[in-house]
Amino acid sequence: MKRAIFPGTFDPFTIGHFSIVQRGLSFFDEIVIGIGVNQAKKTLFSVEKRLELIHQAFQDEPRIKVATYDSLTVDFALSVQADFVLRGLRSVADFEYERNVADANRNLTGIETVILFTESKYSFISSTVTRDLITYGRDISSFLPPNVTL
Ligand code: ADP
Repeated sequence: MKRAIFPGTFDPFTIGHFSIVQRGLSFFDEIVIGIGVNQAKKTLFSVEKRLELIHQAFQDEPRIKVATYDSLTVDFALSVQADFVLRGLRSVADFEYERNVADANRNLTGIETVILFTESKYSFISSTVTRDLITYGRDISSFLPPNVTL
């Protein structure tokens, strides 16, 4: 059984995240989406709402699980018996950060990180832009996964 975690803040979970997870299912048997709950980090959406939105996105997909965690990402991976971390890469701006974290995680535990390039049509979509648009009352339905409504 090949199991990966897909960790993030998901404030909120976007169609960019959705696409990475869907594509990950072609080579992982199971993906546990981990919502990192960091007390110090202020979010627009509550943990409960973030969980609900992800459940909406994957309601017909038994190979996707969703959990929250408040620990090191690798400790979360170990706690759900995952051997891989799945991440998405949008741009060269994401690259150094992702490489750094992936190296640290491999050195700490041997857990490998699998990175997928975003589909280019989603490369401009981020949780930050989505939140900004929500704040100013714009329609962001096209930024959310299919069948998900806020
Ligand atoms: P973090 O707070 O760890 O950056 P995010 O919730 O922003 O978490 O994102 C989680 C993962 O999803 C990261 O690997 C990020 O690069 C990836 N991601 C975010 N937006 C997109 C997108 N539009 N396309 C592909 N991957 C994305």
